[in-house]
Amino acid sequence: MEVQHARIKNGWFTEVSDAHFPGQGFSLRVEKVLHHSQSAFQDILVFKSTDFGNVLVLDGIVQCTERDEFAYQEMITHIPIYAHKNPKKVLVIGGGDGGVIREVVKHSCVESATLVEIDKTVIELSQRYLPEMSCSISDPKVNLQFCDGFQFLRNIGSSDLDAKYDVIITDSSDPDGPAEAFFQKEYFQLLNNALREDGIVIMQASENVWLNINYLGELIQTAKSVFSNTGYCYTTVPSYTSGQLGLIVCSNEKDLRLDVAHRLPTSEEQQKMKYYNPKIHHASFILPTWADRILNTRQA
Ligand code: SAM
Repeated sequence: MEVQHARIKNGWFTEVSDAHFPGQGFSLRVEKVLHHSQSAFQDILVFKSTDFGNVLVLDGIVQCTERDEFAYQEMITHIPIYAHKNPKKVLVIGGGDGGVIREVVKHSCVESATLVEIDKTVIELSQRYLPEMSCSISDPKVNLQFCDGFQFLRNIGSSDLDAKYDVIITDSSDPDGPAEAFFQKEYFQLLNNALREDGIVIMQASENVWLNINYLGELIQTAKSVFSNTGYCYTTVPSYTSGQLGLIVCSNEKDLRLDVAHRLPTSEEQQKMKYYNPKIHHASFILPTWADRILNTRQA
C-alpha cells in the first residue's frame, strides 16, 4: 500500500503553520512518497517531488530540496568561514542532511569538522535519498557525534581552550521540535563559551523579514546581549516559505567586518560553488529600508 502523510492532499504536499506564517502555505507537487516514519525525535517524511527533486521534511517543515539546497548550505557555511581569517576547527550543530559538512570540507584550511546531530535516522535517510548532500559525511576530517547539540555545548568547559572552535554553524530545524532550545539566550551563551576568542558563529534564524520580523528582531537582540558584534544576512531559497531565510552571525571581535570575505575563495574553491561569492557575501547583509530600520537600528 502507498505510504501517505497528513500534509499530502490530492498529490500536493503543503507546509502550513498558524504560529509562524498564518494565512499562507507553500506547496510542492508529489511524485512519490519515499519514506515516512516517526523517529524518537520527530516526524520524518522524504518524497520525490515533480520539480524540486527529493525533499526532506521534519515535523511538517521542508528542510531541503535537491533543487535549491545549495543556496542555503553555501551561505550558512562560507559566510563565517571566509569572514574568519584562519579557520581550522569547525563545529556543525544539526545538519543531518550533510549539506553543510559537504561545504565545510571544501576548505583546505579546515583541519577538523565535528557534526553533532541528535537523530541518526535523518543521516541514514539522507545517505539513501539525498546522496549529493550527504556525500562528505564519511570524509576523514569529519567527526560524527550523535547527541543533543545543546548538551554537547554544555559539556565544553570554559577553560578548556583545546575544546573550542573557530567557527560554529547551527544548522538546526525550527524551534517547534528538538531544536527549541537553540533559540534561547542560554544557547547563545553556550555558543560564546565554545568559541575561540576570534571565532564566528552563524545560525539559521528560522525566520526572515517577510515572516515574523518582530520575533526575528527579538532573536537578534538576544544575540546582541551575548556577543559584542552581531550581523544579520539572508539567503534566497524558493522552497522555504516566502522564499528566503535569515542567518544571524556573531563574533566577539568588535571591529571585525562580518559582511566581508577576509579571505577570497581560490579559483578551485569558487569553481565548486554555485551560489556563494564574495560579492553576494557582502550584499546579503544589505536589507530593504523598512527591515533595516527595524532590525539594525535597535540597540542591545
Ligand atoms: N537546512 C535546514 C533548515 O534550515 O530547515 C536544517 C537542516 S538539518 C536537516 C536540521 C537538523 O537539526 C535535523 O537533522 C535535526 O534532527 C537536527 N536537530 C534538531 N534538534 C537538534 C538538537 N537538539 N541537537 C542536534 N541536532 C538537532
